[in-house]
Amino acid sequence: METLTESSPDLKPVEILRAWPDASICHGFVGRTGGVSTGAFASMNLSYWVGDDERAVDANWERLRREAPDLKLVASLNQVHGNVVHAATRDTAALRPAGDGLVTAEPGVILGVYTADCVPILMVDSKRKIAGALHGGWRGTIADIVGAGVRAMVKMGACASDIAAAMGPSIGNCCFEVDAELGRRFGREIAGARIHTRAGRPGKAYIDLRAVVRDQLERAGLAAANIASVGPCTRCASDRFFSRRAAGGDATGLQMSFVGFAE
Ligand SMILES: [Zn+2]
Repeated sequence: METLTESSPDLKPVEILRAWPDASICHGFVGRTGGVSTGAFASMNLSYWVGDDERAVDANWERLRREAPDLKLVASLNQVHGNVVHAATRDTAALRPAGDGLVTAEPGVILGVYTADCVPILMVDSKRKIAGALHGGWRGTIADIVGAGVRAMVKMGACASDIAAAMGPSIGNCCFEVDAELGRRFGREIAGARIHTRAGRPGKAYIDLRAVVRDQLERAGLAAANIASVGPCTRCASDRFFSRRAAGGDATGLQMSFVGFAE
């Protein structure tokens, strides 16, 4: 642990991108700099479930909490690329159920999702203090995790037209090259998604995942003006954000994106 001190001169600051100026919304997209993890996890890996040294992850959380003191109780998921959304409360926050979305109506409960190319989606209905966090990879997007997440917030009392959403750093249209069949599948299975795909090299296609998610948020009832997109393509900016593609598909750390209302 001696080497993990905060006074190490080469440590960069922790980067937290934010979408909303309202200080009562505790939220952010945490970047990969400013932590103590090494190798594929360098440096601000916040996931205990990817093979990183647990002590390093502990130290990273400690550093993060110094920047964001409201991050006391963080609920998270065993993310499985599906469309199941769980309601998190103070009592269930530690459970980490299988799913890809969390919602809460309890101030003090902060929702966390982990990504490295997939789209982290944060949502708030500030009037009613209801929050949601979603993990939107291509599988979850086809399964409409977005629609499920908005419905779960509405079920808790949120009003879709009052929900603001922010998509965070994730793989861009510039880098998300997939097999052409997957591009066609997006066009077939998601209404209107065809215009967000384009041809790549022979047998390949590119998908603009954030554009597809944006459409899904609008279809779920959000106003276009209430949807923000924050941060760069993770693969292009892999010095600032973890990217599975940039890591060649090997083990990688994960960045955490969080949202909730302070107590
Ligand atoms: Zn890119």
